[in-house]
Amino acid sequence: MTLSCTLCDSTEVTHFFTDKHREYVQCKQCSLVFVPAQFHLTAEQEKALYDKHENHIEDKGYQAFLSRVVSPLQTYIAPQSDGLDFGCGPGPALAHMLTGLGHTMSVYDIFYAPQTDVLTTQYDFVTCTEVIEHFHTPAKEWTILTELVKPQGTLAVMTKLVIDKDRFSNWHYKSDLTHVSFFSQTTFKFLAQRDGLSVEFFGNDVILFKKP
Ligand SMILES: [Zn+2]
Ligand SMILES: [Zn+2]
Repeated sequence: MTLSCTLCDSTEVTHFFTDKHREYVQCKQCSLVFVPAQFHLTAEQEKALYDKHENHIEDKGYQAFLSRVVSPLQTYIAPQSDGLDFGCGPGPALAHMLTGLGHTMSVYDIFYAPQTDVLTTQYDFVTCTEVIEHFHTPAKEWTILTELVKPQGTLAVMTKLVIDKDRFSNWHYKSDLTHVSFFSQTTFKFLAQRDGLSVEFFGNDVILFKKP
């Protein structure tokens, strides 16, 4: 069986790294580093790990963390916009913050808020924070995310970025076994160019896309 990129479908993929748990493969076309399917956890194993994450709505540390995406996002969107938080997790802290700023929020999460009716409309903005690295089939989810955004709308992504192989070798981000898709600036620029989006990077882990 030929291994192909889970994001751009290229078969030009090469071994990137191996650690004691898994193998990592990199796509030559889009630079995504991904974990082959045989190393993926089952949905039940993933849910058990997510249930241990404690992101309390009123937690000040977590709010400070989320403000790194909220601050730049606020400069992209109009007051009282309609937004969707895709992959909100067990405690919808980001939606809570954005509602407090006057926006109207919907939430979706495959485990914690699985009502798919919210995926049948389009939004002024979509947020996807610390989620995209969990996607087993990022090509599919990327299409869903971009189609959820209205023309001139914004997609806000937060994920830690691959810098190089040396840093990857002792990167804590990959020790979370639910993380299977590792993006870099190169990967996001590839997607932006392919799909006709503008892209801007903020800090180490916030990426904003705008639709034409
Ligand atoms: Zn690729
Ligand atoms: Zn994560």
